[in-house]
Amino acid sequence: MEKLSVAEARRAEAIGRQVRLQGWVRTRRDSKGGFSFLELNDGSCLGNIQIVAEGALPNYESEVKRLSAGASITVEGVVRQSPARGQLTEVQAERIVVHGWADPETYPLQKKQHSFEFLRTIAHLRPRTNTFGAVTRVRNCVCRSIHHFFQQRGFLYIHTPIITASDCEGAGAMFRVTTLELGQVPLRGQQVDYTRDFFERPTYLTVSGQLQVEAFACSLGKVYTFGPTFRAENSNTARHLAEFWMVEPEMAFYELADNMQLAEEFLKQLISDCLAQCAEDMAFFNERIDSQLLATLEGIVSSSFERLSYTEAVQMLQQAGERFEFPVAWGRDLQAEHERWLTERKLRKPVILYDYPRTLKPFYMRVNDDGRTVRAMDVLVPKVGEIIGGSQREERLDVLTERMQELHMNPDDYWWYADLRRYGTVPHSGFGLGLERAVQFITGMANIRDVIPFPRTPGNAEF
Ligand code: ATP
Ligand code: MN
Repeated sequence: MEKLSVAEARRAEAIGRQVRLQGWVRTRRDSKGGFSFLELNDGSCLGNIQIVAEGALPNYESEVKRLSAGASITVEGVVRQSPARGQLTEVQAERIVVHGWADPETYPLQKKQHSFEFLRTIAHLRPRTNTFGAVTRVRNCVCRSIHHFFQQRGFLYIHTPIITASDCEGAGAMFRVTTLELGQVPLRGQQVDYTRDFFERPTYLTVSGQLQVEAFACSLGKVYTFGPTFRAENSNTARHLAEFWMVEPEMAFYELADNMQLAEEFLKQLISDCLAQCAEDMAFFNERIDSQLLATLEGIVSSSFERLSYTEAVQMLQQAGERFEFPVAWGRDLQAEHERWLTERKLRKPVILYDYPRTLKPFYMRVNDDGRTVRAMDVLVPKVGEIIGGSQREERLDVLTERMQELHMNPDDYWWYADLRRYGTVPHSGFGLGLERAVQFITGMANIRDVIPFPRTPGNAEF
């Protein structure tokens, strides 16, 4: 007897085969004729398979008729063509083994639709729902697609450290890493004596692997890092997590235009892979979450992204005749409302904004000849807003040092990073894509907490 997944057993090729299926009961329906239908799911696909359990099964009265949502079983039987509508196959059970019961009095996932807020309070059980199963498969597809995209193009996968001493870009507050006892921190004068700490210096959880991955780009050419990143920003939004995954490609000899081109091809590939490889899940999101989802994504794959300088975007916003909450002026940061107006209302497609004021961006972005702007780029998409942030890096040692001083950073702290410019410097570029923002965008899920297995946000780290 062969073990099949539900996904395999649902296909026409399975008809006539003697199989074993294992999973969790979604529903049981008893027929007047003295037999029952079970809907079985094992996570291999969105759909369930119907199990027909005859009254003649030895444990029919004692066990099968007590099965309820959440119970786990093994079913052995024959796959046959289903007379019912909406399903190709069903399984005629010859044996059903119950592994675990799920008391319907207490099992929280009964038939009715639960709110996503409620499901966050049972984050350990929500993978058993249709929506989280679908999110999980799409998230997996995006990760596979990320590796595939870069591997196909000859990029090397680099593992940058999680613990870091450089407080990178000032990209939001950082979590400290320490073995010091909080109640008895050693002091030297008024200051914490970090020489007594584990690493003998202040250390943090990384906000980005960029600085370290640059060392590999500036020797191996095309590289990417893909791992967890941490930001202690106290922003309770639908687009921010304290722990999220970021993929950061970094390429030697790439200028900003090459970087934009790569980012566009990359996003399109992730989308088209999900449309092709997770068609059932994507149809579910289109039906349940956002009825425009498939049309929007297909439109994005087949058209080109808009490219707009920050200066042009500011003009466009000023001429919009909209009443924004935050004022728009050259030199001010664009707020989410501005980004969304550009990508959702005005241009109605992904937009790459570039050449931002130098005062708004970190020290490592290349200064333009105008002296006022840097070679930054942000990719904005409808609903999510910023999904990618990147830049061409400053490869000139003197300009880099000047920028650090301007931002009150101590160049000595970045001696190793400066060495990459001191010895054999090259033009290079890279960007960061937030994995969860990408999954949010592709699934249409409104809240970023619902596209990561166990979300970390201010006040939430239970599971
Ligand atoms: P935002 O302005 O949206 O807070 P950012 O400009 O701080 O983002 P970057 O430092 O440019 O973000 O990080 C690169 C990418 O990482 C972003 O484009 C986004 O996709 C993702 N990202 C950044 N912060 C978070 C977060 N707190 N939670 C989830 N994803 C994030
Ligand atoms: Mn950014």
